[in-house]
Amino acid sequence: MIFTHDTEHALAVVVDLINTSAAASGAEELDGLPGLRAFIGRNAFSDVPDLTEADVAQARRLRDQFHAVFRATDVPTAVRLVNEVIGGVRATPHLTDHDGYDWHVHFFAPGAPMGEHLAADCGMALAYVVAAGELDRLRTCEAPDCSRVLVDLSRNRCRRYCDSRTCGNRMHVAAYRARQREAAH
Ligand SMILES: [Zn+2]
Ligand SMILES: [Zn+2]
Repeated sequence: MIFTHDTEHALAVVVDLINTSAAASGAEELDGLPGLRAFIGRNAFSDVPDLTEADVAQARRLRDQFHAVFRATDVPTAVRLVNEVIGGVRATPHLTDHDGYDWHVHFFAPGAPMGEHLAADCGMALAYVVAAGELDRLRTCEAPDCSRVLVDLSRNRCRRYCDSRTCGNRMHVAAYRARQREAAH
């Protein structure tokens, strides 16, 4: 494990959030409350208060801020972007073992609105990545027609493609065909 379990979980949430955007996946998935509820449901958020359209707008704003961190090409830029997110959020760090998970740290206040939850926990996860000198693990998929993001948690930093069903497989097939063409010559 490269980061702590909490951080890796929060990073998976960040990746999923960014990949709901048209900029990353070609289609806007957070186009209303059903989209936000689906995102929250598949990421098993705890303690979610009632959601409103304001939460959708807030999630989309944060999504843009997180995406900018993935696209930052140098550390000072990433630092400024992460600080913009976590500098303005109310955080109440506490240990919790909700829903059968082992002890882990939540930064968001219990019952906090969705935006605070995302800004505090996902913002802190990105802060840890930058502080650990691991910014280059935040990547954009290298498949030619894919702009999804990923976090490379492999030991040898070799992950280049996103999790989407198509990218990894497709690139394996392309590499295989290229080798076959070489062999045929
Ligand atoms: Zn938790
Ligand atoms: Zn991809």
